[in-house]
Amino acid sequence: MTGDALSQHTPMMQQYLRIKAEHPEVLLFYRMGDFYELFYDDAKKAAALLDISLTARGQSGGQKIPMAGVPYHAVEGYLAKVVALGESVAICEQIGDPATSKGPVERQVVRIVTPGTVSDEALLKEKRDNLLAAVYGKDGRYGYATLDITSGRFLVSEPGGIDDLKAELQRTNPAELLYPEDFDTTLLGDRKGLRRRPQWEFDIDTAQRTLTQQFATRDLVGFGVQDAKRALCAAGCLLQYLKDTQRTALPHIRAIKLEAEDEAVVLDAATRRNLEITQNLAGGSDNTLFSVLDRCATPMGSRLLGRWLHRPLRDIKVINARLDAIAELSNQLQDAALSELMKQVGDLERVMARVALRSARPRDLVRVRTALAVMPDISALLADNSGRLKALKDACAPMPELLDLLNRAIIDNPPVLIRDGGVIRPGYNSELDEYRALSKGATDFLEHIEARERERTGISTLKVGFNRVHGYFIELTRAQSHLAPTDYQRRQTLKNTERYIIPELKEYEDKVLTSQGKALALEKQLYEALFDQLHPHLEPLLRLADACAELDVLSNLCERSQTLNYCQPKLSSERGIAINGGRHPVVEVVLDSPFIANPVMLSDSKQMLMVTGPNMGGKSTYMRQTALITLLAHIGSPVPADSADIGLVDRIFTRIGAADDLASGRSTFMVEMTETATILNNATDKSLVLMDEIGRGTSTYDGLSLAWAVADFLARQSRSLTLFATHYFELTALAEQLAGVDNVHLDAVEHGDTVTFMHAVQSGPASKSFGLQVALLAGVPKAVVKAARQKLNELEGQPVLSAPANGEKQLDLLFSEEPEVITRLKNLDVDALSPRDALMLLYQLKSDANQ
Ligand code: ADP
Repeated sequence: MTGDALSQHTPMMQQYLRIKAEHPEVLLFYRMGDFYELFYDDAKKAAALLDISLTARGQSGGQKIPMAGVPYHAVEGYLAKVVALGESVAICEQIGDPATSKGPVERQVVRIVTPGTVSDEALLKEKRDNLLAAVYGKDGRYGYATLDITSGRFLVSEPGGIDDLKAELQRTNPAELLYPEDFDTTLLGDRKGLRRRPQWEFDIDTAQRTLTQQFATRDLVGFGVQDAKRALCAAGCLLQYLKDTQRTALPHIRAIKLEAEDEAVVLDAATRRNLEITQNLAGGSDNTLFSVLDRCATPMGSRLLGRWLHRPLRDIKVINARLDAIAELSNQLQDAALSELMKQVGDLERVMARVALRSARPRDLVRVRTALAVMPDISALLADNSGRLKALKDACAPMPELLDLLNRAIIDNPPVLIRDGGVIRPGYNSELDEYRALSKGATDFLEHIEARERERTGISTLKVGFNRVHGYFIELTRAQSHLAPTDYQRRQTLKNTERYIIPELKEYEDKVLTSQGKALALEKQLYEALFDQLHPHLEPLLRLADACAELDVLSNLCERSQTLNYCQPKLSSERGIAINGGRHPVVEVVLDSPFIANPVMLSDSKQMLMVTGPNMGGKSTYMRQTALITLLAHIGSPVPADSADIGLVDRIFTRIGAADDLASGRSTFMVEMTETATILNNATDKSLVLMDEIGRGTSTYDGLSLAWAVADFLARQSRSLTLFATHYFELTALAEQLAGVDNVHLDAVEHGDTVTFMHAVQSGPASKSFGLQVALLAGVPKAVVKAARQKLNELEGQPVLSAPANGEKQLDLLFSEEPEVITRLKNLDVDALSPRDALMLLYQLKSDANQ
């Protein structure tokens, strides 16, 4: 807006427009008295987003101004809503004194609340990490950075291609994602909280400068990230954005870590979805692996468990250290006691972040105090443990000085906000105690005046009192008011009483009121000083929070393992998976009936299992449980099985079910083939691959041919450990043709028209598909099933669709099918033809053969 245009507005609107111009892309909450107001387009947007009414305010610049507002005391709820929708808000407060300002009160944006940078308890989901992320791309390779402001965890990676980037985005699921303006946003998918940033914010030199400044280091060599240029470009932009929005120091962000791809078992986006780790296929959070496993005592423990599940490790030492720790807790019956202690520790991680950002509330400090008070108990409980538990116990070393400081400084149950005082404990600061004594009105002094005045006036009912509006007074009944001495000045007349003031009392009142103000100011100062005293200890305190989160997860896994009857897996670097009595962790807790446990053996000599059996027989369940057990073993968790020997895998792939990706305009079959392509291009002999019903989305011949070729490629080229479920019985013949391929099936028993699924895995191929019985079970009308049975009988006379008596022969039929012309010639009875019919037939055959 030009200066001229601006001058047509009222002074207050001029101020508003000036501030708004600095924050064009966020909603500006402009404080006016008890409300935050929004104007113009912001008002319209907020009215729609927050379901608040859109009104108009007077006129400015000759036009009505659209306006919407929210009361200041309810702002947290609205901020939560805005942030959940992926929008950001700039909070603009009055900072000048309305009494002394000429024109509009001075206002300033004091903080910008954005989805990825919030740290207020009210705005965060307890059990989910809230991440700010930035992406950068160059020459088909990417840089990706994430930061959790509530823990200071700052991680970068360099995804090698768009699929890897997508997998990272899905794994981390950031609340806000920054990208350079020339980035192709179609690659980022349909997500909230996308923020376009100017290209120069991703400049490598600026990034290096911003980062070294933050960490107070000369370079980034110590973090091992100096060569990850793309990652650094993303990290630099991210940190700058954080500084711009937080407008405060970020002392808890002290390091940056490069996450190398080969440290973790890679799970691509589809696999993560299919395995329903933290989110089910419908998008909810129930009936997921996480929902079964998470009984953590603290929200930070739950979040850590979520991170573990999404990033299974390949470092056998770390995995075994976790498994040993869980076994130790179990043997020494320590998990319940540990979990009780953790409940008292609470969400120390997020509390510590607020301490670092100086936004911690009095009750946050009480939580730090409670946590510190528990440390000696943790040390005592784990005194004799070894390995990982010992290391964690060492990180929980008591900090008696800090505990003492917080004990002395903060009262037992402080109010929510420091604003109204009453937080600092008496005895902590003598000056504060004095002000408080004065402001409370030292009753001695008032009693003294009361006694003296009673004597002076001879009125025994004379009282000295106080009320908020009128301050201190001397009260006489109306009947006695004529006895008031001349130095009594009338202050207030009530129905039956008169209230007076005398200079001495007025003076006292002034002193009390100023001391109240002074007490409050001093209390705030002392509170701020507590942050200064805590900040030098941030590092050990953050380490302590990390250690407690891990102890919480370990004791949680120990409890789960006992309650759900899991076993400790044995990991090795040998190729192969041998599970006895394996169960699906989620299906087994959801089912009313008992779950049938099943074995899986995959090894060098038997690397692919063709899984056949009727629909509903349990094929998907069997395959997924194998993947979930393998995944759990790689996070160092006990697994739902009688025994499990798991060789380390580099990736887990799943191609399960068919989901139309309508949003991106891809059909079911296209999705299926894209996922299949990813697997074939990336699976190695160290990968676990699950293929379910490949080829279903196209015609029978297409589908069968594709499924056959895919299985053949996986068995011969990739040599991955593979479970291949299919309804194409023809594929069971591969077991005879290729070394390392074997058949298993899930069984069902027929009783007349119905069928009972046994859910038990047997060796060899299935004999029957039971499709019609399943249709009947599902409620398809009897007449339809009967018609289908007739059609089936007809079709079974024809080669390709018949149930295979001998799989190999079926496959031959398919791939070396005889041309129809030959069949007809073979069947022809030449002697029975007239010359004319013979000539006609010859023309006909010639024309068919040409088609
Ligand atoms: P398929 O993939 O063969 O069509 P599913 O794996 O989807 O079959 O299993 C169908 C249903 O059968 C599951 O939802 C579950 O209720 C039940 N089921 C599967 N496996 C088992 C098992 N091992 N024990 C008990 N019930 C099972």
